[in-house]
Amino acid sequence: RGKKAFIAGVADDQGFGWAIAKALAEAGAEISLGVWVPALNIFKTSLERGKFDESRKLSDGSLMTFSHIYPMDAVFDTMADVPEEIATNKRYAGNSNWTVAEVAEQVKKDSGSVDILVHSLANGPEVVKPLLETSRKGYLAALSASSYSLISMVQRFGPIMSEGGSVISLTYDASNRIVPGYGGGMSSAKAALESDTRVLAYEAGRKYKVRVNTISAGPLGSRAAKAIGFIDDMIRYSYENAPIQKELAAIEVGNVAAFLLSPLSSAVTGHVMYVDNGLNVMGMAL
Ligand code: NAD
Repeated sequence: RGKKAFIAGVADDQGFGWAIAKALAEAGAEISLGVWVPALNIFKTSLERGKFDESRKLSDGSLMTFSHIYPMDAVFDTMADVPEEIATNKRYAGNSNWTVAEVAEQVKKDSGSVDILVHSLANGPEVVKPLLETSRKGYLAALSASSYSLISMVQRFGPIMSEGGSVISLTYDASNRIVPGYGGGMSSAKAALESDTRVLAYEAGRKYKVRVNTISAGPLGSRAAKAIGFIDDMIRYSYENAPIQKELAAIEVGNVAAFLLSPLSSAVTGHVMYVDNGLNVMGMAL
């Protein structure tokens, strides 16, 4: 049978989550999505109106389909965590069961189990502020949305993952190296995500026999990246300094994700895999 994949963090056809979905669909997987609640309506409407049809095309000419599309907010684990202002927020109205625990329950009901779990989401409300000016609230929000959300997902989906299953997330090298402009605690959030990848690889490896890896991606002009404000500079910097001088395509990350999510990488876990045209190995470019 085709493998069952759940991908959190797709809301258009521009980001890494979509490209990972595509690479997995090409490999014959069955894809379900967790879409951030405030972005769900526009995503579904765009999908229904054919706005993504060009990017849904697979190499055999068919269009990629999604078996289920779930509303999700990875900042909340159970309904008990949801504050009044979110519960009554217009952008959440009409949706239910969107906390991590409830999404996992729905997926279990609909699909029984999952083989592949993808975390392709991040949020840092103060990302444009230098760390030196970041508030406690902004810092913790970045860690909650971008790092703890992975732990929460592995906690709740681990029990429904098949043996030999595989989890990946997306990280960025600002965890290790100074990237001025990647602020608001997002650099800290990625450092936590990479460390948690190792500890979760051990704990979930022992408990559920699943692997946990993360891809450290080069710059891509996704919606989230445009919100940071200096993505064009990052892309130019990478082009000028990386060993391979080309712009990174989202599908290049999608293809490595498909490898890490397949039995081809059955002995790889706890790993940070760079998919960045090699930029991370440079000291000085001439
Ligand atoms: P993207 O905008 O396509 O994806 C981010 C997604 O996160 C969006 O769909 C958004 O709706 C979702 N999201 C935000 N808060 C959420 C929440 N609370 N619950 C559920 N979903 C939520 O952008 P992207 O750049 O493809 O980002 C995917 C991942 O790749 C992120 O972890 C990002 O940090 C990482 N990454 C991006 C770059 C880059 O240059 N774009 C580089 C390295 C790593």
